[in-house]
Amino acid sequence: MTANLLDFDLEGLAAFCERLGEKRFRATQLFRWIHQRGASDFGQMTDLAKSLREKLPAHAHIAGLPVLSRQDAKDGTIKWLFDVGAGDAVETVFIPEDDRGTLCVSSQAGCAVGCRFCSTGHQGFSRNLSTAEILAQLWTVEHTLRQESASTERVITNVVMMGMGEPLQNYNALVPALRVMLDDHGYGLSRRRVTVSTSGVVPMMERLAKDCPVALAVSLHAPTDALRDDLVPLNRKYPLNELMAACAAYLPQAPRDFITLEYCMLDGVNDRPSDVEALLDLLRRSGVRAKLNLIPFNPFPQSGLRQSQPAAVQAFARTLNDAGVVTTVRKTRGDDIDAACGQLAGDVRDRTNAASRMAQRRQAIQWHPQTPKEPSQ
Ligand code: SAH
Ligand code: SF4
Repeated sequence: MTANLLDFDLEGLAAFCERLGEKRFRATQLFRWIHQRGASDFGQMTDLAKSLREKLPAHAHIAGLPVLSRQDAKDGTIKWLFDVGAGDAVETVFIPEDDRGTLCVSSQAGCAVGCRFCSTGHQGFSRNLSTAEILAQLWTVEHTLRQESASTERVITNVVMMGMGEPLQNYNALVPALRVMLDDHGYGLSRRRVTVSTSGVVPMMERLAKDCPVALAVSLHAPTDALRDDLVPLNRKYPLNELMAACAAYLPQAPRDFITLEYCMLDGVNDRPSDVEALLDLLRRSGVRAKLNLIPFNPFPQSGLRQSQPAAVQAFARTLNDAGVVTTVRKTRGDDIDAACGQLAGDVRDRTNAASRMAQRRQAIQWHPQTPKEPSQ
C-alpha cells in the first residue's frame, strides 16, 4: 500500500519527501497541487521536478472517498454520503449562505459519547476516521463544487467539525487535518473560520489550545450536572465545573473572545424557565464569556424526545439576551434531505450491539485520552 498524501500536513509531507531523498521545498509545490488545485494525478504537476514526478507513483497516491450518494436540497444545502469501507459511511454537508460557504465535516464513523438527542450517538461507535478521510471530505467537496461552478474561486470559506463523531476523541487525526485547513499553501482558512465542536473532552480542549487553537464550540445542552449526566453521558467523567474551567482556560488562545455554547432545545427537558435561570447562574459563576446558540431539536424516532415549542425557545432566548448573553437561534437548513444537526446518521456498522449499548455508554464515560503522537506524522 502506498501512502495517501491526504494524510499529511505540510510538515508531514516534507518529512515524506525527505524520506524519498527529495528536498523539503518540493513538498510545498506538491501540497499546493493537491489542496489548492485538487490534483490527484502526479503527471499533471508540471512544475514539479521530473525525477520526483516519476518517483512518486511507486510510493504515494492521492485519493478522496467514494461517493455513495449526493442529495441537493431546495435551499442549496448539499449532503454527501461517503464510503469509508467495511460497511461504514459518513456524511458531509455543504451549507451555502450569501457571504459564506460552510462545510460540516465528520470525524468518526459513529460516536461513542451516546448523547440522548443525537442520531449519530444512537448508532454507536465504529471507528475513528484517518486524517486523509477527514480531509477527503473537504478536498472532494471543494474541488467538485469549484468544477461545477467553472470557477477557480474558493467555495468553502468555513469548516465546522459538527458532522458525525466527537472530534476530540480522534485528536491525533484531527490536528493535522486542521493544520491543512489553516495552511496558506492548503485551504488558507483563518482560525476563526474553522470550528471544532465538542461535547466536552476536557483534557483535549487543553491540548487543542496549545497545538491548534481554532474556534471552539462546546455542546452544553444542560445547566446542571444532574441533567447533563443524562443528556451527554461524558459529563459523568468531565462535569460542568471542569468543563467551564476548560472553556475559561481556552479563551486566551481562542481566535475570538468568546466560546460558543450550543444548546439543543428539548421540550420540557431543558427549556423551562428554571433551566434558563440555572444557565445564567452557571455562566455568572464560571465567568466564561460565551455566546449561546440555541439549536431546535431535530427529532428522530428512537429518541423519545420532542422539539421545544417555538414560544419556549423565544422566551429562553429573550431571557438570555436581556441578561446580556448574546444568543442566537440556529436556522435549520437542508431539512428536506435530513441534513440538519443531529440527523446525520450515515450508515455505521455498530461494532457493539444494541443490547450492549449501555455498557458502551459506560465505556465512553471511562474513555481515556491516549498519549498523543507527534501530530504531524
Ligand atoms: N460531537 C460533537 C460534534 C458533532 S454534533 C458535539 O457533540 O459537539 C454537532 C452539534 O449537533 C452538537 O452541538 C450536537 O449537540 C448537535 N445535535 C446533535 N443531535 C442533534 C439533534 N437531534 N438536533 C439538534 N442538534 C443536535
Ligand atoms: Fe457524539 Fe456529538 Fe452526537 Fe453527542 S452530539 S453523540 S458527542 S456526535
